[in-house]
Amino acid sequence: MKIVLFGPPGAGKGTQAEHISNMYGLPHISTGAVLRRNIEEKTQIGLVALQYIERGRLAPDDVMMDVLKMELSGCKKGFLLDGFPRTLAQAEALDKITDVDVVLNIEIDADSVVERIVNRMVCSKCGKNYNKKIHSHTACDCGGELIVRKDDNEEVVRERLRVYESETRPVTEHYLKQNKLAHIDGHGTIEEVFERIKQALYDYDKK
Ligand code: ATP
Ligand code: MG
Repeated sequence: MKIVLFGPPGAGKGTQAEHISNMYGLPHISTGAVLRRNIEEKTQIGLVALQYIERGRLAPDDVMMDVLKMELSGCKKGFLLDGFPRTLAQAEALDKITDVDVVLNIEIDADSVVERIVNRMVCSKCGKNYNKKIHSHTACDCGGELIVRKDDNEEVVRERLRVYESETRPVTEHYLKQNKLAHIDGHGTIEEVFERIKQALYDYDKK
């Protein structure tokens, strides 16, 4: 299966991706995580990406295409793509590389996004997400340190939401036309949202 996880920042893509990837045995490709790793390692891609991420903007399409091609190279059979595509140009470029089966569009209102993001901590080692209101962890299960992402503050998240509305949300039209879009209500607990995703994948399988 080739699945795309779509939705605004803080929709829970990363959290749900972990569950989906475990249950269906799919490699999880998070373009945001790849960029953060590059920033950490101070690569050329990281140096470019940092300037955009810090301001809540999207990294340039050509940089993202390079990232995608590298990541997809080992996943010919199936994958779970989290955070890509985020522009129409990226969606069209992806169509040229492979045929996606289903796009899970996790929908959530802006206030819930801000609430989740200002309470978010991430593991600096494995990237797992934690929410201060739900988890009392002081370190990640993997032993890594929990940190607050540079782009996880109210000011930057408002900009990320603005960019989402203008550049990313319109991409749903592209997949609607291809009859690949599945709507997932992103409110509620992690388990509730995962149940909705399993149902959507089951429905897709029967089509
Ligand atoms: P979620 O909380 O739902 O998991 P997220 O807000 O954590 O989503 P990431 O996918 O981690 O978002 O991406 C973080 C940042 O990396 C984005 O705001 C953007 O600047 C950059 N980025 C990631 N993927 C892309 C892409 N496909 N195109 C452009 N920029 C990207
Ligand atoms: Mg994420």
